[in-house]
Amino acid sequence: MRVLKFGGTSVGSAERMHALVHLINDGVPKIVVLSAMSGTTNNLVEISNALYAKENEKVKRLIDALESKYNDVIKQLYKTEKALSRGKQLIDSHFDYLRAFTIDVFTVNEERAILAQGELLSTALFHYYLEEIGVDSVLLPALNFMRIDENDEPDMKHIETHIQPELAKDPGCKLFITQGFICRNAFGDIDNLKRGGSDYTATIIGAAIRSDEIQIWTDIDGMHNNDPRIVDKTHPIAELSFDEAAELAYFGAKILHPTCILPAQMRNIPVRLLNTMQPEAKGTLISSKATEDIFKAVAAKDGITAIKIKSARMLLAYGFLRSVFEIFERYKTPIDMIATSEVAVSLTIDNVKNLDEIVKELREFCSVEVDTDLSIVCVVGSFTAQKQGYAVRIFDALKNVPIRMISYGGSENNVSVLIDTKLKKEALVALNNGLF
Ligand code: ASP
Repeated sequence: MRVLKFGGTSVGSAERMHALVHLINDGVPKIVVLSAMSGTTNNLVEISNALYAKENEKVKRLIDALESKYNDVIKQLYKTEKALSRGKQLIDSHFDYLRAFTIDVFTVNEERAILAQGELLSTALFHYYLEEIGVDSVLLPALNFMRIDENDEPDMKHIETHIQPELAKDPGCKLFITQGFICRNAFGDIDNLKRGGSDYTATIIGAAIRSDEIQIWTDIDGMHNNDPRIVDKTHPIAELSFDEAAELAYFGAKILHPTCILPAQMRNIPVRLLNTMQPEAKGTLISSKATEDIFKAVAAKDGITAIKIKSARMLLAYGFLRSVFEIFERYKTPIDMIATSEVAVSLTIDNVKNLDEIVKELREFCSVEVDTDLSIVCVVGSFTAQKQGYAVRIFDALKNVPIRMISYGGSENNVSVLIDTKLKKEALVALNNGLF
């Protein structure tokens, strides 16, 4: 069984939903994971924010606008009166639900329930369309099996044991449609896998059912070797290893959710990135196979803050780094890059929610400098010890870009540099010219 994920633009209009049928109706058994229609999750976030801000009028206006968008969609989506009236009933029930939330008691749990409506709507509307045109399919309720644990990690055991009985309810079925992004948490409440999480749903399901291939369909032809919005003449990468793809997904290649490679890698299931607008294009194949090319891609991540920590106590001491890291751990703040010398350590974070508290605690035992508006530029490839000369090529390409920090040797797949965000374009272009 394959798992295919289609993002918001692939179900973004009636026309796109009509086109989608041709990509999935080929008789090969599959589970199709859908995002919400493009823009919907953002609209639902706005509705939640207005509820938090107790802006009654705004809440009403936003809900009305979204509802009328859906009412327009179904007029284009369906031909028969029967399907149209089913679609209308579905929309009415979801929007009655949204209107039932009041500003008096609005909590995080309710916000999550609101955010789930996008995927619940897109999958049901698409499933009705398949029924209208006589394509056999079954709607698989993700909330019956997708679950995260207390650490917000997928609860693979629960998912594996709960998805099988759901699939077994319809033994002959070749086409299951399910919601991306949404899940339940350890308390059984509706939750989600964070923005862009439908990719993650697809790889989690793929791993849970031991699928033979996971396909992520977007509207670009695979992962590119550089950011096409910034650099001319980029090209899709034909093949990547799991490790290379995981580095790229984290460091800014927006095409994939950062943690979605892991479940596929754990079960060694190939992931193919394909383009709905150009289905015949080869896209990118991510698998355990290592390829020969040294340089695969360059990616950048903005919004990075560097923290420079200096202390004479670090000299020849042990336990210093542990006390530094413990503070970050306590504030649940992941560290991205790190460089140390005998008396100082520099590290970067992208989540600054608890920065003030972290700095305050660090200052109790060392001096601290904070630097903002930085970008990590990372070069991804296969940099094994046998291959020589690649560092020279990277740094030669970057000879005119001032570098604040370097991370080299952390993995065989990544060389990262920290630069001022203002110089990002210059760095990406220079690396494109120097490496590819
Ligand atoms: N609908 C969710 C979002 O917009 C999840 C997804 O599209 O992957 O973030």
